[in-house]
Amino acid sequence: MLGLRLTDKQVAAFIRYEQELLDWNSRMNLTAIREVEAIRTKHFLDSLTCLLAMRDTPPQRLIDVGTGAGFPGIPLKIIFPNMRLTLVDSVGKKTGFCQHIVQTLGLNGVEIVTARAEEMGQKSAHRQQYDWAVARAVAPLNVLAEYLLPLVKLGGHVLAQKGESAPAEAHVSDHPIHLLGGRLKQLIPITLPGVVDERFLVIIDKIAATPPQYPRRVGVPTKTPLK
Ligand code: SAM
Repeated sequence: MLGLRLTDKQVAAFIRYEQELLDWNSRMNLTAIREVEAIRTKHFLDSLTCLLAMRDTPPQRLIDVGTGAGFPGIPLKIIFPNMRLTLVDSVGKKTGFCQHIVQTLGLNGVEIVTARAEEMGQKSAHRQQYDWAVARAVAPLNVLAEYLLPLVKLGGHVLAQKGESAPAEAHVSDHPIHLLGGRLKQLIPITLPGVVDERFLVIIDKIAATPPQYPRRVGVPTKTPLK
């Protein structure tokens, strides 16, 4: 479906990643998806659908916010080995697993941070530094826009992997996106083999600097989402 041809090294990396996920999941609650087929489709393939939005502008420096067990950031790194990758999650157990995978797969140029997205967006080392900021299953789009847009440089892009609520979420996020320096570019419908749920990639372009007051303090974006 993606027209991808993986090298032997890339296939080996996905197999090892899958083994480690199964192994860690048997000991701790890392992700809800635990069967081999589901890992391949709902984690690996679903993460790689981001490529459909990246064909014309492959990522140089990408941040994955709320990465959990590394999705979609680590599968994208396996495909783009030269890209600089930052993985962020507020839960140390998740970033610990990501660290283990990055070491096990020998991935270079990966920074892993245990922090809240709201803190990252106010740090000069991360604010407006990325050409792509991505997230899957982290927050409603109006909240996610406040997490992600501050991290993206002018001319860069936000990609949110969303379910069936994407069109409605995009509609109510129009003003917040504009306020944060973004412009909604496109909703790309995604169909995964054997998966009935509707999915979308929501693409937002960064067209103006994000005002300094955003992101607001930890917890405020979810408690009082921008309207
Ligand atoms: N993106 C992964 C995936 O699709 O498999 C994980 C999704 S999981 C449902 C949401 C993750 O986002 C959790 O690991 C949670 O700790 C993290 N998260 C939620 N809000 C966050 C925030 N404000 N800053 C950093 N991480 C956050």
